[in-house]
Amino acid sequence: MLQSINPYTLKEVYSIKEFSFEQAKAAIDTADECFKSWRTRSFSKRSDHMLAAAEELKKNKETYAEDITLEMGKPISQSIAEIEKCAWVCEYYAENAERQLANKSIETDALESYVSYEPLGAVLAVMPWNYPFWQVFRFAAPALMAGNVGLLKHASNVMKSAANIEKVFSRAGFPEGCFTNLPINSGMVEDIIKNKKIKAVTLTGSKPAGSAVASLAGSEIKKSVLELGGSNALVVFDDCNMEETVKTCIQARYQNTGQSCIAGKRLLLQKPIAEDFTKKFIDAVRKLKSGDPLDKDTYIGPMARVDLAEELEQQLKQSVEQGAKILVGGNRKDAYFEPTVASNVSANMTIFKEETFGPLIGITVFETEEEAVNLVNQSAFGLGVSLFTENLETAKRLAPQFEDGAVFVNELVKSDPRLPFGGTKISGYGRELSSDGIQEFVNKKTVYIK
Ligand code: NAP
Repeated sequence: MLQSINPYTLKEVYSIKEFSFEQAKAAIDTADECFKSWRTRSFSKRSDHMLAAAEELKKNKETYAEDITLEMGKPISQSIAEIEKCAWVCEYYAENAERQLANKSIETDALESYVSYEPLGAVLAVMPWNYPFWQVFRFAAPALMAGNVGLLKHASNVMKSAANIEKVFSRAGFPEGCFTNLPINSGMVEDIIKNKKIKAVTLTGSKPAGSAVASLAGSEIKKSVLELGGSNALVVFDDCNMEETVKTCIQARYQNTGQSCIAGKRLLLQKPIAEDFTKKFIDAVRKLKSGDPLDKDTYIGPMARVDLAEELEQQLKQSVEQGAKILVGGNRKDAYFEPTVASNVSANMTIFKEETFGPLIGITVFETEEEAVNLVNQSAFGLGVSLFTENLETAKRLAPQFEDGAVFVNELVKSDPRLPFGGTKISGYGRELSSDGIQEFVNKKTVYIK
């Protein structure tokens, strides 16, 4: 049985029996069958369905959002915003896919030569619980618009959301097999990847999961995309707009109760403003409203599972033993972890080196630009970095020096359907969203006519 336990009440909210191997195989057969006709549908027909999916999301956003909140504790207003963002990505690809996948003419000595972008077939998506809808839609909207079909292996603790997503596509009139939820545990992923009808795999999640799935895909010579963890730095220079920067950094770290891959997890402050900034930051953290995630005013809910909160507690404890100092928070009750700020954090400490997946930030003070760049790049992760400065020339000069997949200036790192999204180093490879995202799961076919 796959179970969802509400992390606020610790009561079961949903359970489903796992698919047997035969059931999973039958679902893949149906998906493959569907692909044969889906790939021949015009962009305009696919767009009609994708726009219907956007409508369905908007019409029933409260219901879908409530299930997210009950399954993994996301504060309800943030769950609703997540559903709205999913509608946006559906609309974006409904409107742009045809242009993004139009044949690209290349002049050669041929009469005509060009690249066409053709779907691969059934793509397996292994997804995490932290944005149970968004992570799936940012894969599914481009993949389906490109003419592929999708199969979802969602995280075991958000199987109701997984079923809801399948419902969205079905209500939007997508043919059976175009998008399929597979209620399976991770043990069955190997068999699925080995199935000849599965052509590629995308995984959003942790490094161990990514490494396991990519190794399997590699051994089967199947394309993979990995969106893994991050430990983004928020680099605050002494010429920043202090008030705005505090607000942005709070959101960067504490939204979704700190459980975002692109959250700002390391706060790097330039010495002249470090003390003042820290004081203002702590004041803002104290004002964050914790409570029942179904309450519209709640900003910090429980973490998604008790074991995840325990893991964060352990990381903090180790870092305190290594010399970090807790300025605010630090306590846990079941899955609830107080919004926490630790100072005196250096590059050899646990909360600097590891990904902290909850409402905890560590402060490190730096003096020079060079030191800041080194601190950022010392991380094994490479999702993104935010710089806060009023001097945009400095920001532009520094941007190429970071090893990350994204540099945001005076803004938190965020995903936007119009921009490519993805990491470097152990944060993964490949890109989602924008035209880069839709071109991940296509055969870029060279056509040469003499
Ligand atoms: P996770 O434990 O890695 O799980 C992610 C998915 O992989 C789940 O569906 C999980 O299934 C499955 N899985 C785990 N081990 C597997 C294995 N050995 N073989 C096949 N599948 C396996 O991650 P999570 O705790 O759900 O999510 C948190 C992590 O995701 C964080 O590191 C976060 O930074 C990262 N993340 C990255 C991005 C990005 O865009 N870069 C976005 C969001 C989250 P089960 O649930 O059944 O174990």
